[in-house]
Amino acid sequence: MTITSQALAHVANISPYVPGKPVSELQRELGLTHITKLASNENPLGVSEKVTQAAQAALKDLGRYPDGNAFYLRSAIAEFTGRDITEVMVGNGSNELLEFVGRVFAGPGDEIIFSQYAFAVYGITAQIVGATPVEVAAKDYGHDLDAMAKAITPKTKVIYLANPNNPTGSFFSADQLHAFMAKVPKSVVVVYDEAYLEYVERDDAPSGLALLDAYPNSIVTRTFSKAYGLAALRVGYLLAHADVVGLLNRIRAPFNVNTLSQVCAVAALADQDFVNASVALNTTERTKMVDHLTRMGFEPLASEGNFICVDMKTHAATLHQQLLHLGVIVRPVANYGLANFLRISIGTPEENQHLITALSQVI
Ligand SMILES: *Cc1c(COP(=O)(O)O)cnc(C)c1O
Repeated sequence: MTITSQALAHVANISPYVPGKPVSELQRELGLTHITKLASNENPLGVSEKVTQAAQAALKDLGRYPDGNAFYLRSAIAEFTGRDITEVMVGNGSNELLEFVGRVFAGPGDEIIFSQYAFAVYGITAQIVGATPVEVAAKDYGHDLDAMAKAITPKTKVIYLANPNNPTGSFFSADQLHAFMAKVPKSVVVVYDEAYLEYVERDDAPSGLALLDAYPNSIVTRTFSKAYGLAALRVGYLLAHADVVGLLNRIRAPFNVNTLSQVCAVAALADQDFVNASVALNTTERTKMVDHLTRMGFEPLASEGNFICVDMKTHAATLHQQLLHLGVIVRPVANYGLANFLRISIGTPEENQHLITALSQVI
């Protein structure tokens, strides 16, 4: 008997999350110097100058534990969102918060619903807590909300929705969301993941805040990793009714968000000009990228995020490898069942050009 056979079966069966390849890893492997990473939906502008200054100022406090209640960050988020501070929780990335919801509300014998092609963390969370993952077939690469509502059973405890969705970039409207919520029993938690909220420029977009007002069983998650540019710091937040936040807080480690992350997130939230500039750049560059790739014969899915999921019309693993050799890191999504697709984050004009040049060399 081996010690590994003693592990919980539902944990041993998990396929670990596959992150985008770090720049340093490609440097190490291929000795390249000019590398463009368009693989993790990071902000190509980096961080606001105000964040850099806040980080500098906070360095003198690194000898002390963080504020375990993240008072200033939660206050800033409460003010920004118009919620009460008791309705705000912060996490080590919104990833941690997504997992907290699963751990508090679901266990063995329960079901967690999410869409095919939705963010991998939802399915992994179901597995971590020993619940049954219920993946509902997508429609046009996005959430089929009617089918998801039909998949609800008395065992359903949590439903995860991503809008826009990663990796496909798909989007559903406020009307669609409210029609869905009307069918969800009040006893089922609905997590509305707004990781790419800032990039959405449509008038028919749902409001996570309106969702909270209308449905006490809803939870909204957001992140500082994307439009705010703080991916390295791992900080996200959750909005929910105060009693739900109170429950989630019971399983939170005392200092889950570190001092630098708290301080930088406060500074990032205060610099909405930086966010707006990041979003404007993304919109322009996403349009250009879609045009380029379409002219090259590829088929990008419509995206409301800072990335596009592109049908490369061939098994994309080879293309991915060839691009790595030319110093361009994109994201294969075969693990999502999208073997012919690549997910490409929108970068600066120079980065995007690097990708287009490399692609034209390999096709
Ligand atoms: C990137 C992403 C997140 C959050 O990531 P964190 O860095 O953990 O905050 C959450 N949901 C989706 C759909 C994402 O793409």
